[in-house]
Amino acid sequence: MSESRDPRRSARAARRRRAIVGVVLGSALAVMAAWAIVAVVVATTMPDSAPSNPPPTLVTITPTDAPSAAPSVTPVAPTPSPAAFNKAAHSTTDPTSIWVVVDKIRPIPDAENYVPPDLVSTPDGIPNSHGHPLRQATSDAIVELFAAAKADAGFQLVIASGYRTYAGQQFAYNGYVSSLGQAGADATSARPGFSEHQTGMAVDILDTASGCGVEGACFGNAPAGQWLAANAWRYGFILRYPEDKTPVTGYEYEPWHFRYVGTELAAEMHRTGVTTLEEFFGLPAAPTY
Ligand SMILES: [Zn+2]
Repeated sequence: MSESRDPRRSARAARRRRAIVGVVLGSALAVMAAWAIVAVVVATTMPDSAPSNPPPTLVTITPTDAPSAAPSVTPVAPTPSPAAFNKAAHSTTDPTSIWVVVDKIRPIPDAENYVPPDLVSTPDGIPNSHGHPLRQATSDAIVELFAAAKADAGFQLVIASGYRTYAGQQFAYNGYVSSLGQAGADATSARPGFSEHQTGMAVDILDTASGCGVEGACFGNAPAGQWLAANAWRYGFILRYPEDKTPVTGYEYEPWHFRYVGTELAAEMHRTGVTTLEEFFGLPAAPTY
């Protein structure tokens, strides 16, 4: 009797064949699965290949790998380079520009007839010794600056001078000439047509506690003057005539004289440590007329 004719042996043989086929198929599937895992591991550990060629079928086969694999296949965004500061964003010659540079070699064009736009009275609550108006943006920045000085450090600041007309500057300058002579007057006061005060964006600032005036270094040594020198940039103002820049600006140290240039430029000058508009914009120094 052959085995094939024995029904029980045939059944056992058939079970063995099915078992063998099962083992072979199982082994094949196991190998395929192993290769799939290897492929996923390789794909997810090779940064160059992963982002552009995600293997969706492999991820489907081994779904538990997907969550941990996901972060490594996320393309890394290129680090944006900080935008270069655009020094041409505003005019330095137009007297209405917040970046206009006025000094002893850069007078206001047609100064006798120039009156700034949008001059406003400063709001109630801002002490203003002579009631001088300012341009709107400068006045708004003064409100913020004065509020911060009071809140942060307890200083009550005062506007000692703001917008001056051409005629007003002529009167002030002539007064200095009378008392100091022309050389003395030129060191501390602009000739008419050459004053930042005529732009409506220059403000002489003092405080109520120090007793300092608009002369000498008194205010620069006072706590309020030192707070202003350190913090005015945050509100768009620069100390226009620093102590060590007389050869550039043409003026002696004026710790009370601040110029509104906007927060963008003031912050950039603060960041770069360049303290005069002439140097920042690469303009010639203006020591004399
Ligand atoms: Zn001034």
